[in-house]
Amino acid sequence: MKIDKAEVIVTSPDRNFVTLKLTTEDGLTGLGDATLNGRELAVVSYLRDHVVQLLLGRDASRIEDTWQFLYRSAYWRRGPVTMASIAAVDMALWDIKGKAAGMPVYQLLGGASRTGLLAYGHASGKTNEELFDSVRRHQEEGYRAIRIQAAVPGLKSIYGIASNATFEAMQGVRYDHEPAQRGALPNEEDWDTRSYLRHIPTVFEAVRNEFGPELPLLHDGHHRMTPNQAAQLGKSLEPFDLFWLEDCTPAENPEALRLVRQHTTTPLAIGEIFNTIWDYQQIIREQLIDYVRSAVTHTGGITHLKKVLEYASQYQIKSGMHGPTDISPVGMAAAMHLGLAIHNFGIQEYMKHGAKTDSVFEQSYTWQDGFLHPGDKPGLGVELNVDEAGQYPYVQAYLPYNRLADGTVHDW
Ligand SMILES: [Mg+2]
Repeated sequence: MKIDKAEVIVTSPDRNFVTLKLTTEDGLTGLGDATLNGRELAVVSYLRDHVVQLLLGRDASRIEDTWQFLYRSAYWRRGPVTMASIAAVDMALWDIKGKAAGMPVYQLLGGASRTGLLAYGHASGKTNEELFDSVRRHQEEGYRAIRIQAAVPGLKSIYGIASNATFEAMQGVRYDHEPAQRGALPNEEDWDTRSYLRHIPTVFEAVRNEFGPELPLLHDGHHRMTPNQAAQLGKSLEPFDLFWLEDCTPAENPEALRLVRQHTTTPLAIGEIFNTIWDYQQIIREQLIDYVRSAVTHTGGITHLKKVLEYASQYQIKSGMHGPTDISPVGMAAAMHLGLAIHNFGIQEYMKHGAKTDSVFEQSYTWQDGFLHPGDKPGLGVELNVDEAGQYPYVQAYLPYNRLADGTVHDW
């Protein structure tokens, strides 16, 4: 089971993806997702220039040992570039182990704890009518839980609102929000927290009036509020029974969540920009969150995120793994295998990939009646169509950034 070949493949079918492909002496292959939205080539360099040569000749069956070796031998620990690189190696090794065993990865993790994974999609609109249409369309596609993002009067362009004008204009192509824009410079968006805090509760009231009390609704604050503002929002949304309020304050300061917690019972989710168990240590121990938002791709792979989630389970904190379109089908499959196996699964974010991405990454995971399943092929169940990937070279793309009315840069 020695690793014979390690290739880093960059492709940009609908957006940029970085994939690590490992091949063993006996011809088994494993894939790992190393996509870091907007900073993709930094991870490519980390892998190509510093990791690939360390893998050649290593025993592919030694997943934990390889993880510890890559984490500890670099000396410079943590951070998104390092942890996405380690994650890609880890995923690829689990993929190989599954193929060697003839089992899907979830079986190696202890077997299925449920029959499927509840997933939520992203509805958004510039008006309530547009938002309702988006919610209905998601329901028609089977979604049983829906994230609600709405434009704020007076602000031109904000996070979470689909940029395509109408579903009809896209001739039936769904228009989930895709924030990374191709181009040489990042887009500038605008922000005003007071307007947002005034407006959002009216949106949730309208959605509840239209769709009733049962539908689980989520909302993403995208790190923009102070602890006091987040506490106000959490309180004002309590009548609308949110599944969660996500990233209400900047994630760098876990203590901010203490104040939010003291003032609201709205469930809190955080962690999509976290990379290690150390980022979660305090907020899990102090029970300051309800859901762990990390992606397998940005948290050191299946091996490390499983440890985070097992730690969280002691405090009845559940998973809510990050699943936007910048997580490749390989990263999504890894999340599904882990989510199916752990006891404390909560919900899985799921934005469907575009047709080009689906042609590059052949998937065996399924979507039925609002539930995902990783499938039963050995390994992760995703294969990379290398010829197809080669049709789509890397394209520079950036996430946007925010300015307030007076020109001050604000959290995006
Ligand atoms: Mg988010």
